[in-house]
Amino acid sequence: MVIVMRAKATEEHLGTVVERVESLGLRAHISRGTDQTIISVIGDERFVDPRTFEAFEGVERVVPVPHRFRLASRDFHPKDRVLELRGGVRLGGNDVVMMAGPCAVESREQLQETAEAVHAAGVKVLRAGVFKPRTSPYSFQGLGEKGLLMLREVADELGMAVITEVLTPEDVPQVAEHAEILQIGTRNMANFRLLRTVGNAGKPVLLKRAWGATLEELLLAAEYVLVEGNEQVALCERGIRTYETSTRFTLDINAVPALKQMSSLPVVVDPSHGTGRAELVAPVARAGVAAGADGLLVEVHPNPSQALSDGAQALTPSAFALLMEEVRRVAGAVGRGVS
Ligand code: PEP
Ligand code: MN
Repeated sequence: MVIVMRAKATEEHLGTVVERVESLGLRAHISRGTDQTIISVIGDERFVDPRTFEAFEGVERVVPVPHRFRLASRDFHPKDRVLELRGGVRLGGNDVVMMAGPCAVESREQLQETAEAVHAAGVKVLRAGVFKPRTSPYSFQGLGEKGLLMLREVADELGMAVITEVLTPEDVPQVAEHAEILQIGTRNMANFRLLRTVGNAGKPVLLKRAWGATLEELLLAAEYVLVEGNEQVALCERGIRTYETSTRFTLDINAVPALKQMSSLPVVVDPSHGTGRAELVAPVARAGVAAGADGLLVEVHPNPSQALSDGAQALTPSAFALLMEEVRRVAGAVGRGVS
């Protein structure tokens, strides 16, 4: 349940309610808004009568939360959550945030060329993998630390923020030192130890939906990060596995408005992995923005046929520049800007 305090409630009122919550063996997570404080009750509350709290001084109302996720829910945090990034970029605000770059850092030249191209097209967040979660152990595994340092250097030269995937809890401190956003990949969405570790990393997290996860499972995974005290979480729809084989995955467009309704966390669409086919990336990106996505994650490579990973879905710099124009028009049509 969620306990909404009156605007005039004092610290003492709040303290009394929290004490009662804790005496029942539950935890109280407090969210202080500008005019109202909300307490989310965490734990097995099945045997607690919400009316217990209605009588407390300072309590305005008690709202039962009909789902298993709490901190990620709109009931707990009605206003859209906004992730503040480098360069004044706000993920979850009015602008659709573009994040683009190669699937993986392959070399300084490849990274530099791609970064300059997406930067010239107006992108402020550079994406690239350095620890690659490959399905086959024989595929290119990424440049690791060397790639991470390259990524930081190139992004700094252009004044861009960095988003990159972190694969293991051991890698979190190093990646957090060099990246503005820690990406949790689809294959790690339910790696709960990793989720708790990024929950303590003090950096924004982009959590990708596992290709076989329901939206509730995705939100429960986000809950692992939030409950550790990290409120800077964004969700990413990157395609789910269906019976369809003509595309790599099936981008679940329903997930965008459904997640926005269930949760106040920003929602990002990844049309690259969602389709696996470069020629489908722009139309699906446009659909994502039209459906209400707060950001797009797009793979770009200067020479897709030579890419060491995901070449089939990589856009050339010129195709990406066209996508940017189209996204600007669609964003404008739904009352949003692009940054
Ligand atoms: C990626 O963004 O590079 C990636 C590996 O994505 P996913 O985890 O969605 O497959
Ligand atoms: Mn990729």
